[in-house]
Amino acid sequence: MDVRINVGSLPQNGSKVEIRLKKGDSSIREIISDALVSFDVYKSGNSYDVEGFIEYDLSLICSRCLKEITQHEKRNFRLEFKEEPGYTVDDKSARETDEAEVEYIVENNCINLGPFLRDEILLYIPLKPLCSEECMGLCSICGANLNNTTCEHSKTKQESLT
Ligand SMILES: [Zn+2]
Ligand SMILES: [Zn+2]
Repeated sequence: MDVRINVGSLPQNGSKVEIRLKKGDSSIREIISDALVSFDVYKSGNSYDVEGFIEYDLSLICSRCLKEITQHEKRNFRLEFKEEPGYTVDDKSARETDEAEVEYIVENNCINLGPFLRDEILLYIPLKPLCSEECMGLCSICGANLNNTTCEHSKTKQESLT
């Protein structure tokens, strides 16, 4: 996923950028809307500060009752891209530092937010989504959705608990 911004001709007081990423661009199947990325970018010394937000809709499956959940996400982010004269990479705008932290760098007057945004989106896709904290899930024996109904198995289970 590439989201390249040319910062070569950035105005002194920074620039406001708004990008709409098409639904399929990230190839993250949980995303069911276009993603809006909106941020300011400005130069400070040898680096570029990027500050803004990303907004999109996710479709998830409840890990207990298998109901589809749609979730609106909006998150702020702040990144620093460093200018490193003489440093070149082939097709990356990020590399691992010694501390295994990702460092974002400016290449050919371009910053690429793509890898960061992709990671950011993936990071916030829950491993075990829940339609609600109180979701009762499905009966492990007959598959009844215990949020809407009770079955003979759930009754005996409740009785044995008391
Ligand atoms: Zn559920
Ligand atoms: Zn049952």
